[in-house]
Amino acid sequence: MSNYDVIVVGGGAAGIMAAGRSAENGKNVLLIEKMNYLGRKLGITGKGRCNITNSIPLDEFIAKVKPDGEFLKPAFSKFYSTELINFFNSIGVKTILERGGRVFPESGKAVELVKNFTNWCKSKNVSIQTNCQVTDILLKNDTVIGVKTIVIENGKENRISFYGKKVIVATGGASYPATGSTGDGYKLAKSLGHKINPIFPSLVPLEIDKNIVKPLAGLELKNVKATIFIEGKLTDVEFGEMNFTDFGVSGPIILSLSRKVVASLIEKKNVQLVIDLKPALSETKLDNRIARDIESLKKENYRMILNKLLPKQLIPFFIKITQIDASKMASKISVEERLKIRNTLKSIRFKITGSRPFSEAIITAGGVDLKKINPETMESKIVKNLFFAGEILDLDAPTGGYNLQIAFSTAWIAGS
Ligand SMILES: Cc1cc2nc3c(=O)[nH]c(=O)nc-3n(C[C@H](O)[C@H](O)[C@H](O)COP(=O)(O)OP(=O)(O)OC[C@H]3O[C@@H](n4cnc5c(N)ncnc54)[C@H](O)[C@@H]3O)c2cc1C
Repeated sequence: MSNYDVIVVGGGAAGIMAAGRSAENGKNVLLIEKMNYLGRKLGITGKGRCNITNSIPLDEFIAKVKPDGEFLKPAFSKFYSTELINFFNSIGVKTILERGGRVFPESGKAVELVKNFTNWCKSKNVSIQTNCQVTDILLKNDTVIGVKTIVIENGKENRISFYGKKVIVATGGASYPATGSTGDGYKLAKSLGHKINPIFPSLVPLEIDKNIVKPLAGLELKNVKATIFIEGKLTDVEFGEMNFTDFGVSGPIILSLSRKVVASLIEKKNVQLVIDLKPALSETKLDNRIARDIESLKKENYRMILNKLLPKQLIPFFIKITQIDASKMASKISVEERLKIRNTLKSIRFKITGSRPFSEAIITAGGVDLKKINPETMESKIVKNLFFAGEILDLDAPTGGYNLQIAFSTAWIAGS
């Protein structure tokens, strides 16, 4: 019955690694991918540059992983960023280290990495079946024996079962479904008795009332501080770059803040985003600076003062929220108004009304509950010979190469 030693479901970052690793160990492996080629999502990661990992110390990495980074310790103790970099170097992908410990292929081309990675997998004699969607995992006496699939050939659907001694499910999450990651694995896992912790989009842009943000669409802010208040309580702070869109806010610091925000929005909590446009200046220093500007431009109007303090596109919005007449002579600006300008520069407040959908989320939070997975092997504690790897697991982390390292490490362990 068993044609294969191992069947890997899903040919993304985790699936390619698990299949190649298993074949390297002498196993007869079948890799099944729903789309017409492997590594679709991997090819668009890191804005087409693929941030494969991060070089931060293991403990710091683990602390960034939600909901339980400790789960990764056994996997990371065997296959961490150094091992991953060595692996890619050994298959002809030279790497470079960038700001914030981020590691990229030196070529700057994710598609080239995918090519080398896929060729490595093929060189280990892995059988690859594309255009093939796994619909069920077959069991006999609570043990895996294979998978049921729908294969598309010449536009026709054929139902085929493949038999194998072990199955590794690496179907990814539910984000960017156009890449093939449509959340199938959650249904497969659930049908076998695994608990799926609620999934939600993460590393995702956030929405604000369109009427409020529309005039700001396209505005990019650098070196700002963004603070999140949930039910009035300060919960998270990030410094860096963000931008406004016609639906709300996006950019690196917003994506980083999004996990807690989306989780809170699901619980119907009140979420406020507060932007400090001048985080490098204390309130006193900023007040002195505004006072100096007013003094040196005393014959100009309020709008001209703001020219020195803000990007042009932000000025009409700022005038509106400070409720100070744009044509007011600088010399007529009262102390109270000056303090209002300062306070607004330090905290522009927006109510977050929602998040963008899975189709725009870098990662899916939630997934297969870790309690029923053996962290040493990634094997299910419920079904014998069933393994999981990658984003399908209830593990997620911020941007910076962490999510791919999680996929590669869990896959390497499962493949081993
Ligand atoms: C735009 C974008 C940029 C990103 N950039 C980075 C980055 O630079 N660094 C980083 O660390 N992370 C990044 N990520 C996150 C990272 O890509 C994922 O965490 C990672 O790809 C997860 O790997 P995976 O193999 O578990 O899932 P995936 O890569 O999603 O692969 C799953 C595969 O399974 C296939 N599949 C699904 N269901 C079935 C089925 N029923 N039968 C057969 N096949 C199936 C899918 O077609 C897919 O090919 C990015 C994500 C996105 C969307």
